[in-house]
Amino acid sequence: MSSDNKLIILGSTGSIGKSTLEVIKHNKDSYEVVCLTADCSSAALAEQINIFKPKYAYLNNHSLIDDLRSMLTHNETRILTDTNQLHDILKSDLYGTLVSAMSGSTGLFLTYLALESNKKVLLANKESLVMAGDLFSKFRKQIIPIDSEHNAIFQIIGHSNSKEIDKIILTASGGPFRTYPLSKFDQISVEMALKHPNWSMGRKITVDSATMMNKCLEIIEAYYLFNLQVDQISVLIHPESIIHSIINYHDGSSVCQFSEPNMQIPISYALGYPKRIKSGRSSLDLSTTGNLNFTEVDNNKFPSINYAFEALKSSDNLCLILNASNELAVNAFLNKKISFVNIFSIIEDSMNLIETSSYSNIEEILDVDISCRKKIMQIINKYLIK
Ligand code: MG
Repeated sequence: MSSDNKLIILGSTGSIGKSTLEVIKHNKDSYEVVCLTADCSSAALAEQINIFKPKYAYLNNHSLIDDLRSMLTHNETRILTDTNQLHDILKSDLYGTLVSAMSGSTGLFLTYLALESNKKVLLANKESLVMAGDLFSKFRKQIIPIDSEHNAIFQIIGHSNSKEIDKIILTASGGPFRTYPLSKFDQISVEMALKHPNWSMGRKITVDSATMMNKCLEIIEAYYLFNLQVDQISVLIHPESIIHSIINYHDGSSVCQFSEPNMQIPISYALGYPKRIKSGRSSLDLSTTGNLNFTEVDNNKFPSINYAFEALKSSDNLCLILNASNELAVNAFLNKKISFVNIFSIIEDSMNLIETSSYSNIEEILDVDISCRKKIMQIINKYLIK
Protein backbone atom coordinates (compact mmCIF):
# COMPACT_ATOMS: atom_id res chain seq x y z
CA MET A 1 0.00 0.00 0.00
CA SER A 2 1.30 3.47 -0.86
CA SER A 3 2.29 5.49 2.18
CA ASP A 4 -0.23 8.17 1.06
CA ASN A 5 -3.00 5.68 1.92
CA LYS A 6 -1.75 5.18 5.47
CA LEU A 7 -3.66 7.67 7.59
CA ILE A 8 -3.59 9.44 10.90
CA ILE A 9 -6.92 11.05 11.80
CA LEU A 10 -6.80 13.82 14.40
CA GLY A 11 -10.24 14.32 15.89
CA SER A 12 -11.65 10.98 14.70
CA THR A 13 -14.75 11.12 16.92
CA GLY A 14 -15.84 14.55 15.66
CA SER A 15 -18.14 15.08 12.72
CA ILE A 16 -15.38 15.20 10.05
CA GLY A 17 -13.50 12.28 11.65
CA LYS A 18 -16.62 10.11 11.60
CA SER A 19 -17.39 11.02 7.99
CA THR A 20 -13.78 10.20 7.03
CA LEU A 21 -14.07 6.73 8.58
CA GLU A 22 -17.41 6.27 6.81
CA VAL A 23 -15.69 6.97 3.45
CA ILE A 24 -12.90 4.55 4.38
CA LYS A 25 -15.51 1.83 5.04
CA HIS A 26 -16.54 2.20 1.39
CA ASN A 27 -12.89 1.77 0.26
CA LYS A 28 -11.75 -0.76 2.89
CA ASP A 29 -8.91 -2.41 1.00
CA SER A 30 -7.30 0.84 -0.14
CA TYR A 31 -6.60 2.57 3.21
CA GLU A 32 -4.93 1.73 6.47
CA VAL A 33 -5.75 3.69 9.62
CA VAL A 34 -2.48 4.03 11.55
CA CYS A 35 -3.58 6.27 14.41
CA LEU A 36 -6.82 7.80 15.71
CA THR A 37 -7.01 10.63 18.21
CA ALA A 38 -9.92 12.06 20.19
CA ASP A 39 -10.38 14.66 22.86
CA CYS A 40 -12.61 12.96 25.44
CA SER A 41 -15.13 10.69 23.63
CA SER A 42 -13.81 7.41 25.01
CA ALA A 43 -16.79 5.26 23.97
CA ALA A 44 -16.77 6.50 20.37
CA LEU A 45 -12.99 6.08 20.14
CA ALA A 46 -13.20 2.53 21.55
CA GLU A 47 -15.79 1.61 18.94
CA GLN A 48 -13.57 3.02 16.16
CA ILE A 49 -10.51 1.14 17.48
CA ASN A 50 -12.48 -2.12 17.53
CA ILE A 51 -13.57 -1.62 13.91
CA PHE A 52 -10.49 -0.04 12.27
CA LYS A 53 -7.74 -1.65 14.40
CA PRO A 54 -5.18 1.19 14.22
CA LYS A 55 -1.63 0.63 15.49
CA TYR A 56 -1.99 3.60 17.84
CA ALA A 57 -4.69 5.70 19.48
CA TYR A 58 -4.56 8.81 21.63
CA LEU A 59 -7.17 10.17 24.02
CA ASN A 60 -6.47 13.74 25.13
CA ASN A 61 -8.34 13.36 28.40
CA HIS A 62 -5.94 10.93 30.11
CA SER A 63 -8.28 10.32 33.05
CA LEU A 64 -10.55 8.39 30.63
CA ILE A 65 -7.86 5.99 29.36
CA ASP A 66 -8.87 3.16 31.74
CA ASP A 67 -12.47 3.67 30.66
CA LEU A 68 -11.33 3.45 27.00
CA ARG A 69 -9.31 0.27 27.63
CA SER A 70 -12.28 -1.40 29.34
CA MET A 71 -14.32 -1.07 26.13
CA LEU A 72 -11.72 -2.52 23.72
CA THR A 73 -12.25 -5.88 22.12
CA HIS A 74 -9.23 -5.29 19.88
CA ASN A 75 -6.28 -5.15 22.26
CA GLU A 76 -3.36 -4.79 19.84
CA THR A 77 -3.77 -1.01 19.52
CA ARG A 78 -1.20 0.82 21.60
CA ILE A 79 -2.89 3.59 23.61
CA LEU A 80 -0.52 6.56 23.79
CA THR A 81 -0.29 8.13 27.21
CA ASP A 82 1.95 11.06 26.40
CA THR A 83 1.59 13.90 23.85
CA ASN A 84 5.27 13.51 22.94
CA GLN A 85 4.55 9.99 21.71
CA LEU A 86 1.90 11.44 19.40
CA HIS A 87 4.40 14.06 18.19
CA ASP A 88 6.95 11.31 17.41
CA ILE A 89 4.37 9.37 15.38
CA LEU A 90 3.42 12.53 13.45
CA LYS A 91 7.11 12.96 12.53
CA SER A 92 7.57 9.27 11.63
CA ASP A 93 7.37 7.29 8.36
CA LEU A 94 4.50 5.18 9.66
CA TYR A 95 1.99 7.16 7.61
CA GLY A 96 1.77 9.49 4.61
CA THR A 97 -1.45 11.44 5.08
CA LEU A 98 -2.84 13.38 8.02
CA VAL A 99 -6.54 14.14 8.27
CA SER A 100 -6.56 17.28 10.42
CA ALA A 101 -10.11 17.31 11.77
CA MET A 102 -9.75 18.67 15.29
CA SER A 103 -11.74 21.73 16.20
CA GLY A 104 -10.03 25.03 16.99
CA SER A 105 -6.48 26.11 17.71
CA THR A 106 -5.42 22.82 19.33
CA GLY A 107 -4.89 21.46 15.83
CA LEU A 108 -2.19 23.98 14.89
CA PHE A 109 0.97 22.39 16.28
CA LEU A 110 0.04 18.83 15.33
CA THR A 111 -0.86 19.87 11.78
CA TYR A 112 2.39 21.80 11.55
CA LEU A 113 4.40 18.72 12.62
CA ALA A 114 2.87 16.71 9.76
CA LEU A 115 3.50 19.46 7.20
CA GLU A 116 7.08 19.91 8.32
CA SER A 117 7.57 16.15 8.05
CA ASN A 118 6.54 16.42 4.39
CA LYS A 119 3.19 14.66 4.79
CA LYS A 120 0.05 15.23 2.79
CA VAL A 121 -2.48 17.07 4.99
CA LEU A 122 -6.24 16.87 4.37
CA LEU A 123 -7.25 20.02 6.18
CA ALA A 124 -10.57 20.53 7.92
CA ASN A 125 -9.04 22.43 10.83
CA LYS A 126 -9.30 25.89 9.22
CA GLU A 127 -8.25 27.62 12.47
CA SER A 128 -4.67 26.38 12.09
CA LEU A 129 -4.43 27.99 8.65
CA VAL A 130 -5.99 31.24 9.93
CA MET A 131 -3.49 31.36 12.81
CA ALA A 132 -0.40 30.53 10.79
CA GLY A 133 -1.27 31.50 7.21
CA ASP A 134 2.14 32.83 6.18
CA LEU A 135 3.97 29.91 7.74
CA PHE A 136 1.59 27.36 6.20
CA SER A 137 1.82 29.02 2.77
CA LYS A 138 5.15 27.38 2.05
CA PHE A 139 3.47 23.99 2.51
CA ARG A 140 0.55 24.90 0.21
CA LYS A 141 1.19 22.04 -2.24
CA GLN A 142 0.93 19.48 0.59
CA ILE A 143 -2.52 20.67 1.69
CA ILE A 144 -5.82 19.43 0.27
CA PRO A 145 -8.83 21.25 1.73
CA ILE A 146 -11.76 19.26 3.13
CA ASP A 147 -13.83 22.34 3.95
CA SER A 148 -16.65 21.99 1.39
CA GLU A 149 -16.24 25.44 -0.22
CA HIS A 150 -12.47 25.16 -0.57
CA ASN A 151 -12.74 21.57 -1.67
CA ALA A 152 -15.15 22.76 -4.40
CA ILE A 153 -12.57 25.30 -5.60
CA PHE A 154 -9.81 22.69 -5.36
CA GLN A 155 -11.90 20.31 -7.49
CA ILE A 156 -11.90 23.01 -10.19
CA ILE A 157 -8.33 24.40 -10.07
CA GLY A 158 -6.27 21.99 -7.92
CA HIS A 159 -3.08 23.62 -6.69
CA SER A 160 -2.78 25.99 -9.64
CA ASN A 161 -3.57 29.64 -9.10
CA SER A 162 -4.73 30.47 -12.58
CA LYS A 163 -4.06 34.02 -13.80
CA GLU A 164 -7.38 33.74 -15.64
CA ILE A 165 -9.39 33.74 -12.42
CA ASP A 166 -11.25 36.96 -11.76
CA LYS A 167 -12.90 36.03 -8.47
CA ILE A 168 -13.79 33.12 -6.28
CA ILE A 169 -17.18 33.20 -4.60
CA LEU A 170 -17.57 31.26 -1.36
CA THR A 171 -21.18 30.27 -0.86
CA ALA A 172 -22.69 30.46 2.62
CA SER A 173 -25.93 29.01 3.97
CA GLY A 174 -26.39 32.10 6.13
CA GLY A 175 -26.98 29.89 9.16
CA PRO A 176 -30.10 29.75 11.34
CA PHE A 177 -30.44 33.57 11.69
CA ARG A 178 -30.31 34.56 8.03
CA THR A 179 -33.93 35.76 8.09
CA TYR A 180 -34.13 36.43 11.84
CA PRO A 181 -34.64 40.15 12.59
CA LEU A 182 -31.56 42.01 13.82
CA SER A 183 -33.72 43.67 16.49
CA LYS A 184 -34.13 40.25 18.16
CA PHE A 185 -30.47 39.19 17.97
CA ASP A 186 -30.03 39.98 21.68
CA GLN A 187 -32.52 37.19 22.47
CA ILE A 188 -30.62 34.44 20.64
CA SER A 189 -29.99 31.48 22.96
CA VAL A 190 -27.32 28.74 22.76
CA GLU A 191 -30.01 26.22 21.82
CA MET A 192 -31.19 28.41 18.92
CA ALA A 193 -27.63 28.94 17.67
CA LEU A 194 -26.91 25.21 17.68
CA LYS A 195 -29.70 24.43 15.18
CA HIS A 196 -28.05 24.59 11.76
CA PRO A 197 -30.49 24.31 8.85
CA ASN A 198 -28.34 22.18 6.49
CA TRP A 199 -25.15 20.78 8.01
CA SER A 200 -24.65 18.51 11.01
CA MET A 201 -21.42 19.65 12.69
CA GLY A 202 -19.67 20.17 16.03
CA ARG A 203 -20.75 22.87 18.49
CA LYS A 204 -17.97 25.40 17.79
CA ILE A 205 -18.41 25.44 14.00
CA THR A 206 -22.21 25.46 14.34
CA VAL A 207 -22.03 28.68 16.39
CA ASP A 208 -19.47 29.99 13.87
CA SER A 209 -22.07 29.38 11.16
CA ALA A 210 -24.72 31.22 13.18
CA THR A 211 -22.47 34.31 13.54
CA MET A 212 -21.06 33.79 10.01
CA MET A 213 -17.62 33.83 11.63
CA ASN A 214 -17.20 30.48 9.89
CA LYS A 215 -17.32 32.31 6.54
CA CYS A 216 -14.94 34.94 7.90
CA LEU A 217 -12.41 32.20 8.74
CA GLU A 218 -13.06 30.61 5.33
CA ILE A 219 -12.17 33.85 3.50
CA ILE A 220 -8.79 33.80 5.26
CA GLU A 221 -8.47 30.08 4.56
CA ALA A 222 -9.11 30.65 0.83
CA TYR A 223 -6.65 33.55 0.70
CA TYR A 224 -3.78 31.37 1.92
CA LEU A 225 -4.79 28.08 0.26
CA PHE A 226 -5.16 29.51 -3.23
CA ASN A 227 -2.68 32.39 -3.04
CA LEU A 228 -5.32 34.98 -3.91
CA GLN A 229 -5.53 38.75 -3.56
CA VAL A 230 -7.97 39.99 -0.91
CA ASP A 231 -10.28 41.56 -3.53
CA GLN A 232 -10.49 38.27 -5.44
CA ILE A 233 -12.62 36.68 -2.71
CA SER A 234 -16.31 37.28 -2.10
CA VAL A 235 -19.23 35.63 -0.32
CA LEU A 236 -22.73 34.83 -1.57
CA ILE A 237 -25.62 33.60 0.56
CA HIS A 238 -27.06 30.37 -0.83
CA PRO A 239 -29.45 28.93 1.76
CA GLU A 240 -29.79 25.47 0.15
CA SER A 241 -26.03 24.64 0.41
CA ILE A 242 -26.03 22.81 -2.92
CA ILE A 243 -23.49 24.90 -4.83
CA HIS A 244 -20.34 24.81 -2.72
CA SER A 245 -18.44 27.62 -4.41
CA ILE A 246 -18.02 29.36 -7.75
CA ILE A 247 -15.05 30.56 -9.78
CA ASN A 248 -15.52 33.52 -12.09
CA TYR A 249 -13.06 33.65 -15.00
CA HIS A 250 -11.93 36.73 -16.91
CA ASP A 251 -13.88 35.66 -20.01
CA GLY A 252 -17.28 35.79 -18.29
CA SER A 253 -17.52 32.05 -17.63
CA SER A 254 -18.26 30.79 -14.13
CA VAL A 255 -17.60 27.24 -12.96
CA CYS A 256 -18.99 25.66 -9.80
CA GLN A 257 -19.10 22.35 -7.97
CA PHE A 258 -22.40 21.11 -6.56
CA SER A 259 -23.59 18.15 -4.54
CA GLU A 260 -25.82 17.42 -1.57
CA PRO A 261 -24.47 19.01 1.64
CA ASN A 262 -22.72 15.93 3.01
CA MET A 263 -19.04 16.02 4.03
CA GLN A 264 -18.36 12.48 2.76
CA ILE A 265 -18.20 13.95 -0.75
CA PRO A 266 -15.38 16.51 -0.21
CA ILE A 267 -13.59 14.06 2.11
CA SER A 268 -13.63 11.32 -0.54
CA TYR A 269 -12.22 13.76 -3.12
CA ALA A 270 -9.41 14.78 -0.76
CA LEU A 271 -8.63 11.15 0.15
CA GLY A 272 -8.63 9.87 -3.42
CA TYR A 273 -7.06 12.89 -5.17
CA PRO A 274 -6.14 12.91 -8.02
CA LYS A 275 -8.52 9.97 -8.49
CA ARG A 276 -12.15 9.86 -7.46
CA ILE A 277 -13.12 7.13 -5.00
CA LYS A 278 -16.46 5.99 -3.57
CA SER A 279 -17.94 8.48 -1.10
CA GLY A 280 -20.97 6.40 -0.18
CA ARG A 281 -23.23 9.19 -1.50
CA SER A 282 -25.01 9.66 -4.83
CA SER A 283 -25.13 12.55 -7.27
CA LEU A 284 -27.98 15.00 -6.95
CA ASP A 285 -31.06 14.72 -9.09
CA LEU A 286 -31.56 18.38 -10.06
CA SER A 287 -35.16 17.70 -11.10
CA THR A 288 -36.01 17.14 -7.43
CA THR A 289 -33.76 19.78 -5.82
CA GLY A 290 -36.23 22.65 -6.01
CA ASN A 291 -35.28 26.29 -6.37
CA LEU A 292 -31.79 27.50 -5.60
CA ASN A 293 -31.57 30.98 -4.10
CA PHE A 294 -28.74 33.50 -3.90
CA THR A 295 -28.53 36.82 -2.08
CA GLU A 296 -25.90 39.19 -0.73
CA VAL A 297 -24.71 39.06 2.88
CA ASP A 298 -26.40 41.53 5.23
CA ASN A 299 -23.32 43.17 6.76
CA ASN A 300 -25.39 44.94 9.42
CA LYS A 301 -26.50 41.62 10.80
CA PHE A 302 -23.24 39.85 10.19
CA PRO A 303 -20.24 42.19 10.52
CA SER A 304 -18.10 39.01 10.56
CA ILE A 305 -17.38 38.98 6.82
CA ASN A 306 -15.70 42.38 7.00
CA TYR A 307 -13.42 41.24 9.86
CA ALA A 308 -11.70 38.86 7.44
CA PHE A 309 -10.96 41.59 4.91
CA GLU A 310 -9.82 43.94 7.66
CA ALA A 311 -7.51 41.30 9.14
CA LEU A 312 -6.05 40.30 5.76
CA LYS A 313 -5.41 43.90 4.75
CA SER A 314 -3.69 44.55 8.07
CA SER A 315 -1.15 41.99 9.25
CA ASP A 316 -0.98 38.26 9.80
CA ASN A 317 -1.17 38.83 13.51
CA LEU A 318 -4.65 40.30 13.29
CA CYS A 319 -5.83 36.95 11.88
CA LEU A 320 -4.40 35.32 14.99
CA ILE A 321 -6.26 37.76 17.27
CA LEU A 322 -9.44 37.33 15.25
CA ASN A 323 -9.26 33.55 15.61
CA ALA A 324 -8.39 33.56 19.32
CA SER A 325 -11.08 36.11 20.22
CA ASN A 326 -13.72 34.19 18.29
CA GLU A 327 -12.73 30.88 19.86
CA LEU A 328 -12.82 32.27 23.41
CA ALA A 329 -16.02 34.25 22.80
CA VAL A 330 -17.81 31.20 21.34
CA ASN A 331 -16.69 29.15 24.32
CA ALA A 332 -18.05 31.80 26.72
CA PHE A 333 -21.32 31.92 24.75
CA LEU A 334 -21.69 28.10 24.81
CA ASN A 335 -21.16 28.26 28.60
CA LYS A 336 -23.91 30.92 28.74
CA LYS A 337 -21.53 33.54 30.14
CA ILE A 338 -22.01 36.10 27.35
CA SER A 339 -24.80 36.94 24.92
CA PHE A 340 -24.78 36.03 21.21
CA VAL A 341 -24.31 39.63 19.99
CA ASN A 342 -21.36 40.14 22.33
CA ILE A 343 -19.39 37.55 20.36
CA PHE A 344 -19.09 40.36 17.77
CA SER A 345 -18.27 43.00 20.41
CA ILE A 346 -15.48 40.86 21.87
CA ILE A 347 -13.93 40.19 18.45
CA GLU A 348 -14.11 43.89 17.51
CA ASP A 349 -12.62 45.04 20.82
CA SER A 350 -9.86 42.44 20.56
CA MET A 351 -8.97 43.45 16.99
CA ASN A 352 -9.00 47.16 17.93
CA LEU A 353 -7.36 47.07 21.35
CA ILE A 354 -4.76 44.33 21.37
CA GLU A 355 -1.37 45.38 20.10
CA THR A 356 0.16 43.22 17.43
CA SER A 357 3.62 41.75 17.60
CA SER A 358 5.46 39.94 14.84
CA TYR A 359 6.51 36.30 14.67
CA SER A 360 8.29 34.05 12.24
CA ASN A 361 8.11 30.47 13.49
CA ILE A 362 5.62 28.10 15.07
CA GLU A 363 6.92 28.56 18.63
CA GLU A 364 6.53 32.33 18.36
CA ILE A 365 2.99 31.94 16.97
CA LEU A 366 2.02 29.74 19.90
CA ASP A 367 3.57 32.23 22.36
CA VAL A 368 1.80 35.23 20.80
CA ASP A 369 -1.46 33.26 20.80
CA ILE A 370 -1.15 32.56 24.55
CA SER A 371 -0.41 36.21 25.40
CA CYS A 372 -3.30 37.43 23.18
CA ARG A 373 -5.70 35.04 24.91
CA LYS A 374 -4.86 36.48 28.31
CA LYS A 375 -5.76 39.96 27.03
CA ILE A 376 -8.92 38.66 25.33
CA MET A 377 -10.09 37.08 28.59
CA GLN A 378 -9.92 40.55 30.19
CA ILE A 379 -12.09 41.91 27.37
CA ILE A 380 -14.58 39.02 27.80
CA ASN A 381 -14.86 39.86 31.51
CA LYS A 382 -16.41 43.20 30.54
CA TYR A 383 -19.24 41.40 28.73
CA LEU A 384 -20.16 38.70 31.27
CA ILE A 385 -23.91 38.30 31.84
CA LYS A 386 -24.64 39.69 35.28
MG1 MG B 1 -17.19 25.30 4.98
